[in-house]
Amino acid sequence: MTQKNVGIIGGGQLGMMLLESALENKRANYTILEASKDCPAFDLCDHFIEGNLKDADAINKLSTNCDVLTWEIEHINVEALIELEKQGKQIIPSPKVLQIIQDKGLQKEFYISHNVPTSPFVLLKDNELLQYLENHPEFIVGDKVVVKSRTGGYDGKGVQILSLDQIRTGELIFEGDILLEQFVPDVLELSVIVAVGQNKEVKVFPSIEMYFNPESNLVEFLFSPAQVSQEIEDNARKTAFKAVESLQSAGLFAVEMFVMGTGEIWVNEIAPRPHNSGHHTIEGCETSQFEQLNKILLVESLGDSQLIQPSAMINIVGPKEFSGSYALKDELHWLEQKDVFVHMYRKSESRPNRKLGHVTVVASTFDELMKRAKEVKETLEIIQS
Ligand code: ADP
Repeated sequence: MTQKNVGIIGGGQLGMMLLESALENKRANYTILEASKDCPAFDLCDHFIEGNLKDADAINKLSTNCDVLTWEIEHINVEALIELEKQGKQIIPSPKVLQIIQDKGLQKEFYISHNVPTSPFVLLKDNELLQYLENHPEFIVGDKVVVKSRTGGYDGKGVQILSLDQIRTGELIFEGDILLEQFVPDVLELSVIVAVGQNKEVKVFPSIEMYFNPESNLVEFLFSPAQVSQEIEDNARKTAFKAVESLQSAGLFAVEMFVMGTGEIWVNEIAPRPHNSGHHTIEGCETSQFEQLNKILLVESLGDSQLIQPSAMINIVGPKEFSGSYALKDELHWLEQKDVFVHMYRKSESRPNRKLGHVTVVASTFDELMKRAKEVKETLEIIQS
């Protein structure tokens, strides 16, 4: 039987790990579309198309060479994909999902219309914000509001948490269409990854507790199982499943949620692709998020999503002090550890806060995991080389 050709839009670390997961049991050919060969997935793909991810011609070229398409990044030409889907191309997830998700405003409206719980919000223009808040002081919780750019944001770059005074003194940076969200104080952030097969088979991964760097807004540290009551765990999984089911599409989805002090859960957003919050699944779960996506793309039955052992993930990001060539300090030492798994993303240069890699730490008990992960987090270091 001839092997299927899978096309992946984007050649970053998520694409790289999708290809890595396919290496052991290679049953498809993979083509990557990316703007430059200097990208994490280049060395592992079977074919490479150099092109801009927003260019319809480049996406059409990828489509001509492939049986099924997916993406590993959201900022791509969705109109081209919608057109291809209309012509009968198999695209997973459906680009209609991406169209909703690319616009944080449409995404919030989608949750409301499908009874998926989410934080209170209003869609506004930047120049309407101040007046709206002056007329609706009840919207301001704990002196703050959250303002998001409706399109183009990622890794917290499209998010500002501001006080009314800061808005008055002109600290809002977004222009045009914005999403104003109620601030959720002391929030616990969970992610649940949901895999939906083309035959509608569903696997829900155990929930993941995430911690963000307050300066960079990047996920810094996470672990699974989340340390929440069984009731919250069940509710988080149920809410994630409901949100994904509403999308009516096959695919791999990460559902990011806020858990309030009352135990109530709000969906923050869905990533329709493998996600940073699921990196620990490579060593921590029976089937990784990447292998699960391969199974979805190749119409195979899905794998078991259960945790094998408590796992934590620490992102390795470029230090603030320099840009340029770099190394992981004591890399050999880290590679020798049996409970620490190092993943470097083959990026040629470091830049402040650029995601360069991650490590997963595993342990037989949760207490041991926390102790070891803290030790690893404090000693991992990127140095100039
Ligand atoms: P991005 O798509 O860039 O990741 P998010 O909407 O996920 O943006 O927001 C990034 C982070 O900002 C969240 O993970 C959370 O820590 C914080 N945040 C976002 N919305 C709120 C909110 N309504 N209340 C409190 N914190 C929020």
